[in-house]
Amino acid sequence: MYIPYGRQCVDEEDIQEVVKVLQSDYLTTGPMVTEFENRVAQYVGAKYAVAVNSGTAALHIACLAAGIGQGDEVITSPVTFAASSNCVLYCGGTPVFADIDKDTYNISPDEIESKLTENTKAIIPVHYTGQPCDMDAIMDIAKRHGLLVIEDGAHALGASYMGKKIGGIADMTCFSFHPVKPITTGEGGMVVTDNEELYRRLTLFRSHGITRDGDMMTHNEGGWYYEQLELGYNYRITDISCALGNSQMNKLDRFLEKRRAIADRYNQAFEGVSRIKTPTVQEGCESGWHLYMIQVMGCDRKAVFDRLRENGIGVNVHYIPVYRHPYYQRNGYGGVCCPNAELFYDRAISLPIFPALTNEQQGYVIDKVLEAVM
Ligand SMILES: *Cc1c(COP(=O)(O)O)cnc(C)c1O
Repeated sequence: MYIPYGRQCVDEEDIQEVVKVLQSDYLTTGPMVTEFENRVAQYVGAKYAVAVNSGTAALHIACLAAGIGQGDEVITSPVTFAASSNCVLYCGGTPVFADIDKDTYNISPDEIESKLTENTKAIIPVHYTGQPCDMDAIMDIAKRHGLLVIEDGAHALGASYMGKKIGGIADMTCFSFHPVKPITTGEGGMVVTDNEELYRRLTLFRSHGITRDGDMMTHNEGGWYYEQLELGYNYRITDISCALGNSQMNKLDRFLEKRRAIADRYNQAFEGVSRIKTPTVQEGCESGWHLYMIQVMGCDRKAVFDRLRENGIGVNVHYIPVYRHPYYQRNGYGGVCCPNAELFYDRAISLPIFPALTNEQQGYVIDKVLEAVM
């Protein structure tokens, strides 16, 4: 038996939806893409959505649409997947890491304030594990300093903050549909926004910077005519992927319920165990429970990790603070240290959590974790 930390949940209905597209006229950039965009936008309460072929591409076009470039600083969390800051580097900007809050593991608004300079252009808060960041405080900082906020919601589709779904709060929010994420399209991502101008720029950057829209072109030479207005990319997603995405959207709320139940059971099982710190959920928030992180204290994390892996449990560590990676160390981040992120990294273990995890499997994981920390 091997239990991974995360896994997609794809059923016969999903498969049939994909097969239908394979037999249709459009394999890419057809009706499924638009339908998927509309469904996600409606679900999260955003006006516009632009689907792309990865969460990383979503972050990249969001930074491009925001106008991030040489000399611009963008503040983000060190406890995240590297894509959250790589997207800034792609644009020639400079990621600046602000430390996390010790309890929520999300970027701390006070730390953001302390990193502001006259070159700060944007903030990329990451809703780590699916738990929403302190968005009121972050939006307030952004407003006072004229900054854009791009949420990395890769973990947080379906999560909510003060009764509002993630995706309806900041200037732009990026989602990922990688197989371990809340829903999957294989590979895929999306940016949602309420801002029409940002939306137009996002669609340009998705497809080579090319438009056929008469309102955007400098002039029109005839029915064949189009113009490249920006240096864009081919980040288009296929109709095949979006058919899967649409079918998965039918199940998102069920998936979230299942994740919540799994998190509740872990919380109960580890309550009062002094060597395990369970996640804290911020008041007024509903986590999407993409990850279930524990911190182990008073025992050797590596020993616990190895023991669980030996027992067929695909535990993981999310994440190595991004500035620690050799690429970042070589490129000016050698002196960076976020103490809370470091402490968290030393103790963190992520346990299996995904909709298809069975009661029996979870019981086994709980037993082995309790054994390993004793
Ligand atoms: C998965 C992930 C991404 C990147 O998404 P891809 O679809 O894999 O490109 C970005 N940020 C975070 C926090 C992620 O977990």
